[in-house]
Amino acid sequence: MSDTTICLPVLPHYTLVISKDTGRRIVGSLDSRTQAGNFHKQSREEVRHRASPPEKDKMSTDAIKFFFGRYGLTNGDIDKLLAAALARGGDYADLYFEYRVANSVNIEEQIVKQAAKSISQGVGVRVVIGDKTGYAYTDDIAFDAIRHAAETASHIARSGGSKQVAGVNATPTGLNLYPVAVPVSSTELSKKIELIKQGDRAARGFDRRIREVQSSINDEVKYVMIATSDGRLVGDLQPLARFGITCIADDDGNLQVGRSGGGGRVGIDFFEGESSPEQYALEAARQAIIQLEAVATPAGTMEVVLGPGWPGILLHEAVGHGLESDFNRKQTSAFCGLIGQPVASELCTVVDDGTIPDRRGSLNIDDEGEPTSRTVLIENGILRGYMSDYLNAGLTKSARTGNGRRQSYKHMPMPRMTNTFMLAGLDSKEDIIRSVKRGLYAVQFGGGQVDITSGEFAFSASEAYLIEDGKVTAPVKGATLRGNGPQALKHVTAVGNDLELDPGVGVCGKAGQNVPVGVGIPTIKISEMTVGGTQN
Ligand SMILES: [Zn+2]
Repeated sequence: MSDTTICLPVLPHYTLVISKDTGRRIVGSLDSRTQAGNFHKQSREEVRHRASPPEKDKMSTDAIKFFFGRYGLTNGDIDKLLAAALARGGDYADLYFEYRVANSVNIEEQIVKQAAKSISQGVGVRVVIGDKTGYAYTDDIAFDAIRHAAETASHIARSGGSKQVAGVNATPTGLNLYPVAVPVSSTELSKKIELIKQGDRAARGFDRRIREVQSSINDEVKYVMIATSDGRLVGDLQPLARFGITCIADDDGNLQVGRSGGGGRVGIDFFEGESSPEQYALEAARQAIIQLEAVATPAGTMEVVLGPGWPGILLHEAVGHGLESDFNRKQTSAFCGLIGQPVASELCTVVDDGTIPDRRGSLNIDDEGEPTSRTVLIENGILRGYMSDYLNAGLTKSARTGNGRRQSYKHMPMPRMTNTFMLAGLDSKEDIIRSVKRGLYAVQFGGGQVDITSGEFAFSASEAYLIEDGKVTAPVKGATLRGNGPQALKHVTAVGNDLELDPGVGVCGKAGQNVPVGVGIPTIKISEMTVGGTQN
């Protein structure tokens, strides 16, 4: 059976809408835009310099203190628990502690529809032996409960254990990517509601045909601590927040939807500046109004220009998932065995970078305690590397890349993307569009999906236009783009100088686990792509 992944923006979703599009757009001069021109040139050392030395391990130290203080655990306890996990044998064991507080508030029709708070906590214990993993978890962070989980996970091993546990010690992580002054999670509900209402008013004021508005703020703060049988003890404090808005335009029964939003590992100040709810609201309203005039999409093979930012979901689907090391170790990826081979036009360099400050897909450490990194996946068209976690790096004798991620303590880690994007090229957007005789200009997408084994991927465009004689003309509706992973990027014939990252609302689904990710792309031209049209 082949693996299929489905990745979507997480935005408010109306049950009433007739369109299934889930689009969104970069708004104004979002931080991604201002950073985009520079961050891709940054080395990891430069990123580290953003945190002054005394503070660079603060998140790790604070998180360890949090778990030890709150639950009365000691280094000695952790060592005993890891020894229990390896008591029957095994190559490696680790403990993943998680404490998460999440809030959400939704407004529909200018009324607070729901405000919710949830707290979850637990520990996952993993025992690895060869390519097999034993996993058990408990939602009771107490020594006896964790020991019971460790004993359960240890049953993957059959023989008596001989592996010694190295005593754990707090290990430097070296990154402090999201030093948030005031987390959204500790902001008063009334303040969040006021922010949301500002967005609501802006959307309604945009055009009298905006009939319905739904918007929300979702935020969380997550403490994690990871202890490993080879002696590593690290922690992190991970804030995450997003604002999302959906507008429905109604023109005499013609109903169209627009969606926007943004966020990241940011504090409340993020939504008080350039990335305000008003900006997202105006964008969602604009999309909905434009769609009122949209014409049917012509079907067939044609030149396609992708706008910058969220259309980078194309990379995520076309190549990203196929370059996760588990699929390649199991030889189920269409990219298996292609390291050193051309898989894209030489204009394309694609990286996965978990070290960009404040981004939704960034992490100081991955969910196995490994510092994240910048991994070159494709360099000038040549496949250079895969994204790896502990297990698959070990089995394939390759380096760990800090891509071991999991949805929660209830889940085993696996190789996942962080922020995946293509580096900027030299062309201007205007020149790229001018070079197209007849084609499609797609600027916003709903979700995408890919069949890992065949490499076949598909997306739905939520905002797209015809290009006729080098000019952007009518908006079209219901456009879908299809392609094959190892082939699609070979047809990239122009790469713009306008790299943007998405606004920070993406979620990636793989094997039933959702994790926040980032994507990005400059304007690019693909010389041939299959465009499907639907008559909505
Ligand atoms: Zn995905």
